[in-house]
Amino acid sequence: ETFPGDFSNNPMQRNTPKVLFATIKPSGFDKPELIAFNEALSKEIGLGTYEDKDLSFLVGNNLPENVRTYATAYAGHQFGNWAGQLGDGRAILAGEITNEAGKKTEIQWKGAGATPYSRHADGRAVLRSSVREYLMSEAMYHLAVPTTRALSLAFTGEDVMRDIMYNGNPKLEKGAVVIRTAESFLRFGHFELMSAQREYNNLQDLADFTIENYYPEITATDNKKYKEFFENICTRTANLMVEWFRVGFVHGVMNTDNMSVLGLTIDYGPYSMMDEYDLNFTPNTTDLPGRRYAFGKQGQIAQWNLWQLANALHPLIKDEKFLEDTLNNFGTYFWEAHDQMLCKKFGFDQLLKQDEEFFTNWQGLMQELQLDYTLFFNQLKKITQNTDISEFFKDASYSILNEEKLEKLNSFIKSYEARKALNSISEEDSLAMMEKSNPIFILRNYLLYECIEEISNGRKEMLEKLIKALENPYEEIYPEFSVKRPSGYDDTAGCSTLSCSS
Ligand code: AMP
Ligand code: MG
Ligand code: MG
Repeated sequence: ETFPGDFSNNPMQRNTPKVLFATIKPSGFDKPELIAFNEALSKEIGLGTYEDKDLSFLVGNNLPENVRTYATAYAGHQFGNWAGQLGDGRAILAGEITNEAGKKTEIQWKGAGATPYSRHADGRAVLRSSVREYLMSEAMYHLAVPTTRALSLAFTGEDVMRDIMYNGNPKLEKGAVVIRTAESFLRFGHFELMSAQREYNNLQDLADFTIENYYPEITATDNKKYKEFFENICTRTANLMVEWFRVGFVHGVMNTDNMSVLGLTIDYGPYSMMDEYDLNFTPNTTDLPGRRYAFGKQGQIAQWNLWQLANALHPLIKDEKFLEDTLNNFGTYFWEAHDQMLCKKFGFDQLLKQDEEFFTNWQGLMQELQLDYTLFFNQLKKITQNTDISEFFKDASYSILNEEKLEKLNSFIKSYEARKALNSISEEDSLAMMEKSNPIFILRNYLLYECIEEISNGRKEMLEKLIKALENPYEEIYPEFSVKRPSGYDDTAGCSTLSCSS
């Protein structure tokens, strides 16, 4: 048997065998208040412009009787363990909208009320997690990283209780709802559920549906199409991981139920952009003992998650050797693409044999000198012959660059210049490549933290500035946002003491 075992004894589960979804209406909220609306996205997907009357829709109020809203069932491996049946616990799907060009987009409320898959939780979302999802998913989109998107953010008008203890009391936080959109919200976990319950007909139907709608690149029509399906998911997932490495994104909860079958970044919880370069950095306090989901492990974890998906698809593919080979290829493909990506960040036109050693030296330098990942590359791109290296990286480091450290930095920069001299493209082309690969603005955790504080206090100036900055991440719109994290914030600022996924 390739499925991960029986999970029917867990009292927290609500098992709904042979059923992929449950119809459920949003709770409805008396006093909604709009915080942000993404008009560009709204027009793009075919929803048009915003008018006041739409606020009601944005939190899921007063839906027409004929609108069948629903939540889906999925399963998953969480922190390496089979977690059995899960599902959309605080997400409700409104269905799909088709724009004029015929492109379909799924629409989902997050935080609009409990569903049959909420288990012990309330189906609500707090302002903090809603702002984080809204802003970061849009930031990723504008960085050109595949992602779900955010259409709106609104207060529900009700308070939500969260078990974060403040002076011994549970904390009340303002409730909020985000509408998020995606071509599809299908996850690895949807396939795992069907497979674990041995519903192979449903599994096949789900695979057929996914291939037909979201994988136009698959050409086989016979059973070979499931092989191509798995290969393509591996490729898209590897490309996504490379993009996360490029911009310094750490997801924080790469459970298989948070892995998109379309290769999108999905479920923004205790994520963080990385400030100082650190392969061991995890923003998720729940992940701290094992650091399973640390920045540097994301490629390996994606591969582990794909193993679970391979098990789930095995009844359709029935070829262990193929699945194993494909999973092994993932590693080779990922590292090659990763190194190609690093080349571009450094402005090298091609990957050379000696680059592996160069990259290793660079990683050591970054880690030891506590250099800021984003600022480092932005400084690197500005170096000229007259640059005084000892001054140039001072504000990009979280440690004091003493003489010993400066010496290491100097010698690294020399090796960089020597490596760059091997380019067969012009300086200009090299610089253009660096500018495209290295964002100037990243949505740092402390910025989110300050923005959430402001919104809680009724101010939206920072929100508006952040939106403008994240829409143009390869330009410097606000110089005050292109600096390292101020002292006083640690690298997880903005997360609660538990985890910020609620
Ligand atoms: P996550 O770690 O955010 O991916 O969530 C794991 C599972 O818990 C998912 O099935 C969620 O739908 C569910 N969940 C998380 N928070 C809530 C909540 N406030 N209400 C209901 N379900 C939740
Ligand atoms: Mg069938
Ligand atoms: Mg999730």
